Formats: sequence, C-alpha cells, structure tokens
Amino acid sequence: MPARVRTIFVLILIVCLGLPAWPVSGASASKAPKPSIGLPGAAYAALETITPDHIRWHVRYLSHDLLEGRGTGQRGGDLAAEYIATQFAEYGLKPAGDHGSYMQKVPLVGITTLPETQFSLVPKQGEPMNLKPLDEYVAFDQTQQPQSEVDADIVFVGYGIEAPEYNWDDYKGVDVRGKVLLMLVNEPPSDDPKFFKGKALTYYGRWTYKYEEAARKGAVGVMLVHQTAMASYPWEVVRNSNSGEKSALKVDGPALKVASWIHYDVAAKLASASGMNLEKMMHDAQSRDFHPANLGAKLKAHMVSKLRNFESNNVVAILPGSDHTLADEAIIYTAHYDHFGIRPDMTGDNIFNGAEDNATGCGVVLELARAFAGAASRPRRSIIFAAVTAEEQGLLGSQYLGKHPPVPAGKISLDLNYDDLPPLGAPEEVEVSGAERTTFYPSVEAMAKEFRLAIRPDAQPQAGHFYRSDHFSFARVGVPAFSIGEGVKYKGHTEAWGMQQANDYVEKRYHQPSDEYHPEMDFTGDSAMARFGFALGWDAASLPKLIGWQKGDEFEAARLKSQ
Ligand SMILES: [Zn+2]
Repeated sequence: MPARVRTIFVLILIVCLGLPAWPVSGASASKAPKPSIGLPGAAYAALETITPDHIRWHVRYLSHDLLEGRGTGQRGGDLAAEYIATQFAEYGLKPAGDHGSYMQKVPLVGITTLPETQFSLVPKQGEPMNLKPLDEYVAFDQTQQPQSEVDADIVFVGYGIEAPEYNWDDYKGVDVRGKVLLMLVNEPPSDDPKFFKGKALTYYGRWTYKYEEAARKGAVGVMLVHQTAMASYPWEVVRNSNSGEKSALKVDGPALKVASWIHYDVAAKLASASGMNLEKMMHDAQSRDFHPANLGAKLKAHMVSKLRNFESNNVVAILPGSDHTLADEAIIYTAHYDHFGIRPDMTGDNIFNGAEDNATGCGVVLELARAFAGAASRPRRSIIFAAVTAEEQGLLGSQYLGKHPPVPAGKISLDLNYDDLPPLGAPEEVEVSGAERTTFYPSVEAMAKEFRLAIRPDAQPQAGHFYRSDHFSFARVGVPAFSIGEGVKYKGHTEAWGMQQANDYVEKRYHQPSDEYHPEMDFTGDSAMARFGFALGWDAASLPKLIGWQKGDEFEAARLKSQ
C-alpha cells in the first residue's frame, strides 16, 4: 500500500475504531446507552486523549540508533531511563523511586564469559569434544566469580523437574551434588489440564526454574538441550540472549558454576559417544518412571568471566489516589525499557533497537501516565507507573521492584504489564492471559466487550509467556498480574494474516537488530491496548476490595502471605 493511501487508511481506522464502543464525552453521552461498566466522565475524557501518534513518537525516539539498543547499565539504557523520568516529571507525577527521585537503583553484576573459557565434553571413549562458543554452546558462571573449574560427571535428569502436586520427580532422590545435569527444556507433554496444566507451560518448564532447582540440589552445572520445538524459539534467540554481557541481581543463594545451553546436535553426539540415543532419552523422559542416567561422560570446563558491578534504574512514578482511605493502595502499570544494547562482536548492523520489544510497551505506559495525570479527577487508589530495567536479562528489574515496591505488595491490587505490542493496525482481539486466574476477570470480560475486543486465549500456551514477562515478578510476590496484548485478528485482515505477521516477527526481527522503527508502522493497536488498559486500571482502582487470585491458584499462597 502506498504511504499516502496508507496514511488515509490509518486515519479512517483511528476515527472508526480507535474509540471504544461506548460514548466517551459529554454531549452525546446522555443519549447513548450506558456502558455496563461505568467510569466517571473525567476518566472517559482522559481516555479519549490517548492517541496512536503519542505512542509512535515515544517508540521512534526510544528505538533510535542514538539510544544504542538501551542496554542494561549502558549509556543508551540510562538515556532511555532519563527520557522516561523526564516525561513523568512533565506530566506532573510524583517520584516513587529512591530518595524522592524517579530512579530506583537496582544492584546488578554484569557477567561476560571470556574467550579463554574452555568447554569440553569428554565421553568415556573417543575424542573430547571442545565446543565452539555461541555456535555449539552458551554458558554463564552464576557464582559471580572471575574463574571457576568444573570437572564433573554428566547426569541426564530428563526435564529436571520435581513437582509433588503433579506426582512428578525426575530426580528420584539421586544425589546430584557436584554433578553437571543434562536436561530438557519445557515439561512432559500432556493434554490433561490437571497435569502440568495440559499444553500450557507452567513455571516448571522454564529454564530459570531448572537452573534454580539444580542449584538448590547442589549441582555445579546445567546443560539445557536446545530444541526449537520444545523451547518455542530458534537457537539464534538462545545465542543472542546469551552472548555478550549478561546481568544478574547480586547473588544471594546457591548458584551454578556452569549455567548453559547446548545445541541439539551436540547433545545428540554426546549421547551417542556415551552409547546412548538422544531421541530415546527424550522419549524415556516423558515417563513418570524416568530415572536419572549417568552418561559416563564428563564436562571439563574452565570458566573465565569478566565481572562488572553496576547499577541500573527502574523508573517509578506515582499518581496519588483521591480517596484518603484507599490512597495507600495502588494499581501498577509496568513495561520494560531495556533491550540488548550493542554487540561489538557482530558485523553489520549491531544495534538491538528493540522498537517493538519494548519501546512499544514504554510508549503505552508513558501515554497512560500522561492521560491519568491529565484527567480532571483522580481514581480512588493510587496509580504507579514503572518502566523497569533488565527484563531481557531475566526479569531482573521487575524482580527487584517486586521485592522493593513503593507500596507494599499486599496493597497493590493489580499489575498491568505491556510487552511487545505489534504496530500492525486495529486489533479485534485482546490477550490477557492469566487474567482468568484472578478475581478481576469478570470485569476484564465485560470491559473487553465494551471495547469490542474478543478475548483471545493464549495463542501459544506451550511457550509459557506468562512466565516470560515482568508481570510474573509481581505474581511471584502475590500481586494479581497479567500482560495486555493484541491477539492475531486485525481489522481488514484474516486471522491467517495475523499469524503470518507473528511468525515473520519471531523469525526475522524478535531479539535481532532488525527490530527497528519504520514510519509505516501503525500504532492504532498500541493505542487501543492503552485505552483498554486505562479503563481496566481506573476500574480496578475504584473497586471496593483489592483484587486476588482465584482459590487454588499457584500464586494464592504468596498473596495471602503478603496481606
Ligand atoms: Zn520484551
């Protein structure tokens, strides 16, 4: 579509579809049918000021080459944080960071695995396999030491999961202290919703859980076998997410000397050199009767790391609530502003601009902040706006904010998170995966109806998206939390088109330097998601009671403990 035609098309879309189904301003409001969820007139008026172009300009700036990919603890990341803090100040929001500032310092350690590192698989018989970094393996030393030696037996532990509630234990009480554990990502496949939530991924399937569990059991290392289908992303994503400097919160518990992924082909070779068969091992791992298997092979690793203590900031602002009895309770909006920075080792374009991931989410949260701050009246509870750091490094900024929130976690009613909103036009769907696990869900359903958005169930529950963005850090401390995202059905397009766009993005741009801003991007959907989230947040801020998790939910215990 030529640019001019497209612009006109976009304008029409904004006029026709950018507005919610219900009336939003004075004169016509009295004649039109009342929305089933009533927001005060001031809220409607503020919501109406949310526009695609406001979001566009934030995205354009935040993903500019001058921002150098917004690396955590790097100049570009700090510039982005300053930009966001400046916007908050301009909107008239109060600082909610450290010592009366918008910045909350997050203590981090940057770990770079140096080229001197040696990583060798030594089978019982035959030649040792000296693996090539990035092509065949990626590894980090989580103990945050400059050097570590590993010379340990490799034990295959299937999925590396111990989950009593599903009567599943891959370890079977085997002592894995001092061992290196070879394991599969994801969890045993199942269609039974009562068994690891069926096709949906639980936290047990996440690589973070697997590292944590292995470290708790005293293992010195983990080698995750990468397989595209199981991980739901290709090796390039593992490679890009694990090369260069990786950040961690300062270590305060058991940790692995070797936290690594190995390429599927390498794992297959290691298995056959050990007289085993990887396909068969993967098959055996699907059984409850699986038992850990010693390969008779060793990992000999000489880990050499460069360590850099540094700080990065979460940017946090608050709009105090209007109701003096409820103002000490809050709703929080979150979006991560960090991305991967610049990769000096890469030839060609090596700036990870992160336009869609996640300048879009930042644009939305900034636009929400502006709209809330500009409203003629305030919601009853306080509203916190947080642009968090180090998400790409493992949700570190939000993890820190969850542990050190400006309002105690037990008094935060809801976290609405935005991460990666495709600028593809007007969505006819919304994804709110995890919302159905909260007591807020009836309101979410009703609001979606008002906005003429069909709630799309998680398109890939097997990818475990719930555990892969910042709302999870809040869920872990008990706060009802979910992300708001677009589905795949867009106005004027088929569902297949939307799927194709999503696949294209994952293959060609996700976590790659090509995730860049283009003027043709259409932010109608980003704006629609902002409006939807604005209405939800205002509604949640006005409810008589705090929101909770449904009975029996995996986060219910954390919620009760926090209150
Ligand atoms: Zn993201």
